[in-house]
Amino acid sequence: MVEHDALIVGAGIIGLATAYHIKSRNPKADVIVVDKLAAAGQGSTAKSAAAFRCLFYSRTNFALADSSVEFYRHVQSDLDYDLKLRWAGYLWLFDEEEYHKMLPVLTDLSEKGFQYREYDESELAKKLGIKTDFSDDEEAQLMGLGNVHKGILIPKAGFIDVDSLVKFYETEFLKLGGRIQYNTEVTEVVVEPRKPLGMPGEPYFWQDAAVVGAKTTRGMVKAKKTIIAVGAWASQLLDPIGIECFIKGKKRQVFSVKAKTESLRKLLFTKDFTDVGCLPFTILPRPSAYIRPAPEEEALWLAYGDEFPRAFKIEDNPEPEENFYRYGLYQVIVKYFPQFKDCQPFSAFAGLYEINTIDGQPLIFEENDLMVVGGASGSGIMKADAIGRIAAALYNGEEYALLFGDRKFKVSDLGLKNRNIEPEKLVI
Ligand SMILES: Cc1cc2nc3c(=O)[nH]c(=O)nc-3n(C[C@H](O)[C@H](O)[C@H](O)COP(=O)(O)OP(=O)(O)OC[C@H]3O[C@@H](n4cnc5c(N)ncnc54)[C@H](O)[C@@H]3O)c2cc1C
Repeated sequence: MVEHDALIVGAGIIGLATAYHIKSRNPKADVIVVDKLAAAGQGSTAKSAAAFRCLFYSRTNFALADSSVEFYRHVQSDLDYDLKLRWAGYLWLFDEEEYHKMLPVLTDLSEKGFQYREYDESELAKKLGIKTDFSDDEEAQLMGLGNVHKGILIPKAGFIDVDSLVKFYETEFLKLGGRIQYNTEVTEVVVEPRKPLGMPGEPYFWQDAAVVGAKTTRGMVKAKKTIIAVGAWASQLLDPIGIECFIKGKKRQVFSVKAKTESLRKLLFTKDFTDVGCLPFTILPRPSAYIRPAPEEEALWLAYGDEFPRAFKIEDNPEPEENFYRYGLYQVIVKYFPQFKDCQPFSAFAGLYEINTIDGQPLIFEENDLMVVGGASGSGIMKADAIGRIAAALYNGEEYALLFGDRKFKVSDLGLKNRNIEPEKLVI
């Protein structure tokens, strides 16, 4: 049986970025990617809101997102792949309390040279046509909605076309001679003793054992290194071999509302914030539901990442919930944006966040010839390139990865043993 140098399980954005960087750093290596679905990027990657931002407080977040987005900019401008990058910005709406909490963080960032613009309540009311003060609205108070005190616009942020990004990594990996096998589900990660003695039930605890590949629905695939990049599904493959990955799935839903009325079109195609010609990605004060403009389909996507008591649950086809929109999102959004009155979604989708329950940052580590790459916790699109490069550095046994733009990143910072993550202070 052929033994590959590397088997990568999962052709989501993380598996593909990892495959591409391993192959481009090791042109002679025999690298194979398998995925249970029929094409690339059909798991959570296909369900993403495809938004990115490059302004973070934490050194970890900033390095991962900013270098990845700069690489995507390079792919689009120099390598001729149209990733449909749209620098529409992020617009955060804050109530007074949150704004004052965030002020020192923002001041610090601006002293370091980061750019953002501030809007006050009356400007926002005029530009967005929103209601900013709920002191006369008992219902809003009952719902605990925050008044809009200030808005912060981050210009270095926007959207990307995820399909095109997936296509880029897939095509370039194949061009380098990599192989991908779709419709191939890994059913078991296979462990064998390094020195087999031919005893039944090997390996025993006293034997030195390692992962040697995986059983799939299309037969055994042997590899010197097996790399698990299956997003929210990681524990399904790792629990049976006693590897704790701290990655759990949680459903996230997006509802798309067509901008049919004059007032919604005005909101969607506003030029008041950037010259891109659409609303920025806009985050409400409390609860932090968001509006993601989708000008190409003349729609506005509405979403909220609910926590307690939303279950951690792995589902193959998570469904959007009608009542989540009707009694949840709609009620919140329409209080701020009366333009949405009586709007029903014309489509909706749901996917899984692959949440790293330790600190919400990606995990990249190796144990017994098995690597785990994932846990991007809802920001895998904007961090994928950096994650792929760090995984390739780990594969090559290097202490530091070189991110796009020649920034050094210590590989073990995203590992388990010597993990070193700077917490984020600029949180949504
Ligand atoms: C609603 C929603 C909105 C989001 N919005 C954003 C955003 O705006 N910006 C952002 O950066 N990120 C966003 N994300 C997060 C982003 O989509 C993820 O971080 C990213 O897609 C994770 O990629 P992945 O490759 O780890 O996982 P996936 O894309 O899920 O890839 C895992 C792959 O593994 C395969 N697989 C699983 N089990 C097996 C098996 N046993 N055998 C073979 N193959 C297997 C699956 O089929 C899948 O293709 C969002 C996610 C959701 C759900």
